[in-house]
Amino acid sequence: MPSEFELIRRFFERPARGARLGVGDDCALIAPSPGMDLAVSTDMLAEGIHFLAGADARRLGHKSLAVNISDLAAMGASPRWATLALALPSADEAWLSEFSAGFFALAERSGVELIGGDTTRSSNSASITICITIFGEVPPGVALLRSGAKPGDDIWVSGELGSAALGLAQRLGRVTLSHQDADYVTRRLELPDARVELGVRLRGLATSAIDVSDGFAGDLMHILERSGAGALVRYESLPRCAVFAKLGDAGLEQRCVVSGGDDYELLFTANAARRGDVERLARELALPLACVGSVTGAEGKLQIFDAAGRALPAAGGFDHFK
Ligand code: ADP
Ligand code: MG
Repeated sequence: MPSEFELIRRFFERPARGARLGVGDDCALIAPSPGMDLAVSTDMLAEGIHFLAGADARRLGHKSLAVNISDLAAMGASPRWATLALALPSADEAWLSEFSAGFFALAERSGVELIGGDTTRSSNSASITICITIFGEVPPGVALLRSGAKPGDDIWVSGELGSAALGLAQRLGRVTLSHQDADYVTRRLELPDARVELGVRLRGLATSAIDVSDGFAGDLMHILERSGAGALVRYESLPRCAVFAKLGDAGLEQRCVVSGGDDYELLFTANAARRGDVERLARELALPLACVGSVTGAEGKLQIFDAAGRALPAAGGFDHFK
């Protein structure tokens, strides 16, 4: 049985390039680029809550980093460094090898350096907990906050909503899809891509932003609460994956698109006069950006209307304690 320190050396120690000092000492040493603000965020993934028991280790390595990078994307920050804390039931080398391969493949593509962490045995149960802290950089004064939405602003969503939730439904055997569709929605659930480039390009353009992790309606509510605003949203204009049309289950589609979590798209607001700029950005990034509604002065009030003008029932986002 390898020691804790051998495991760390084998699976998590890589030569430091962007950091002054990486894995191996009591602290890492980092120097942010001159004049930049550090953007810092932590996200924890617990087995049975954020991922299913027995989840593919390589995909888990990817996803646990991707959800952290997504928080930086939502602030318009560029990823630089990460720390990784793992609580594991045992020193399973096959699992660690796969997990670290998925983690480092995304880290290298995203310019993230792993600079430290902690590795412990999980206590009584056989469950895995993964906690990552990510450090990014953003010029002072331009980070995208939740608090800047103004009445009259357009509301935009990148990519598509609901596909990760559909992937979860399929994983749980609640829907039956073709092989190809199942593969597509499962990848959306297990291999999300953070919208880093979009976030950076939204500096100075978006008035507020958030990443869609807990569901569109719940995450939009976070913007509205922080901004002291309300919103009118057209349900039909919410971008969604093509698989829903084949399923023909309007209830499931609505739950996934409005309240489904784990999409890691960006939800942002922009002054209506900047609509052309957002559309140009979508073309430049080859990333669909859909205008789905507008911000109102009705504080804390989110109304979503269908094509017939009927209001959808209020939908909340995911809440661990409800
Ligand atoms: P300490 O006891 O001083 O906290 P540790 O023995 O926990 O140090 O860790 C030794 C070194 O390995 C530290 O530099 C720590 O940051 C790093 N480390 C531990 N676990 C991980 C991990 N899962 N990923 C990356 N680095 C890790
Ligand atoms: Mg330690």
